[in-house]
Amino acid sequence: MLADKDRIFTNLYGFQSPDLKAAQQRGDWDKTADLMKIGQDEIIEVVKASGLRGRGGAGFPTGMKWSFMPKAPTPGRPNFLVINADESEPGSCKDREILRHDPHKLVEGALIAGFAMRARAGYIYVRGEFIVETEALRKAVAEAYEAGLLGKNAAGSGYDFDLFVHRGAGAYICGEETAMLESLEGKPGKPRLKPPFPAGAGLYGCPTTVNNVESIAVVPTILRRGAAWFKSFGRENNSGTKLFQISGHVNKPTVVEEAMSISFRELIDTHAGGIRGGWDNLLAVIPGGSSVPLVPAAQIMDAPMDFDGLKELGSGLGTAAVIVMDKSTDIVRAISRISYFYKHESCGQCTPCREGTGWMWRVMERLREGEGDVGMIDRLYDVTKQVEGHTICALGDAAAWPIQGLIRHFRPELERRIAERHGMQEAAE
Ligand code: NAD
Ligand code: SF4
Repeated sequence: MLADKDRIFTNLYGFQSPDLKAAQQRGDWDKTADLMKIGQDEIIEVVKASGLRGRGGAGFPTGMKWSFMPKAPTPGRPNFLVINADESEPGSCKDREILRHDPHKLVEGALIAGFAMRARAGYIYVRGEFIVETEALRKAVAEAYEAGLLGKNAAGSGYDFDLFVHRGAGAYICGEETAMLESLEGKPGKPRLKPPFPAGAGLYGCPTTVNNVESIAVVPTILRRGAAWFKSFGRENNSGTKLFQISGHVNKPTVVEEAMSISFRELIDTHAGGIRGGWDNLLAVIPGGSSVPLVPAAQIMDAPMDFDGLKELGSGLGTAAVIVMDKSTDIVRAISRISYFYKHESCGQCTPCREGTGWMWRVMERLREGEGDVGMIDRLYDVTKQVEGHTICALGDAAAWPIQGLIRHFRPELERRIAERHGMQEAAE
């Protein structure tokens, strides 16, 4: 279990005030200018050495992403930092807690990250439904300006840096980084084809890095305590501490900071009060938010909760939104509901996603009722494979993978429903 002294988010539950004064008492904004004195490239090297991988779901190495930004921005083409606070993945609720209770960690991290990447301005794009969170963040940004921590000569560093808060309008797809850039530019949030990646052509066509809230908020502590300290948690290629969000059929749903690679069993027993009805009652787990495939109980119990460990199980860490389902769950209905979500949130600009998400959901609904025949399961699987990897953004994959996971691990349940319905029909005839 992670010791209290090693927690980065010391006000995760809001026991103390999120205000600047209280944040400073917790160690935020302590000699920030000194941290920046090591220089822009050295900050990027420290982040690289820490092993930090993107906390928004994809796990791309953060320091490497920063190093893609031009070191000498050309006139008229400034570098930008964009922070993704459009947390909308079903099951995910960690950035929400940072924004509510520890916003100064994010604001200080934004200054340091902006400086390292030679950005003079940063934008925090907040989920439209996050009204309280936007207010808390705006207050923190205003406090930082008033105290001279942002703006001209930010925090006495000699570097000028402005930070803007932009609230979205409630579209899940605007959390996709290029849709977010479109939306910030005032256009409908429709993803762009990648490449070019944002570092090459991002906001207003300028070099841009888009990072998740948690990725940026941990940076000041990494600089203060050192890359080796952060790397000492977890294991190679999966290092650091991580916010896990545990929901569903546990006795005590929670958001908790833990060491990466903690086993599923330890995570649940230590922080979530165990599985409802005991461990024998566990059916399956979606370990990383609705985009990743479920893992059946027997496989996940002792699995390390990290990028590589969950990938080996055919799933992923994603945002570390751990959705626990016990044996009372109608697993087909649960996955069908997720399918509906993706159909609803598809932006509609590419055919496999626009048509495929609706088709997959309708077939899922039929299978839920036991309609059709066994061949329909194979056709559904086939269609998920046609959608996967053939769309502009990852939403197509995210719609396909949960269904693939269901068919892989719960095919007998789908077949049972079909057989049962056929049996009922025959009995009626
Ligand atoms: P991605 O793998 O395409 O990209 C991840 C990041 O790395 C991006 O910033 C991208 O620009 C960068 N990148 C990747 N390859 C690169 C390259 N060759 N050169 C330069 N930069 C490169 O994934 P994505 O579409 O950004 O994110 C998908 C993930 O988002 C899913 O796994 C899901 O877990 C997660 N997600 C999170 C939320 C949320 O609320 N936090 C919502 C939906 C999805
Ligand atoms: Fe839009 Fe779906 Fe295509 Fe993404 S995959 S661009 S959400 S239609």
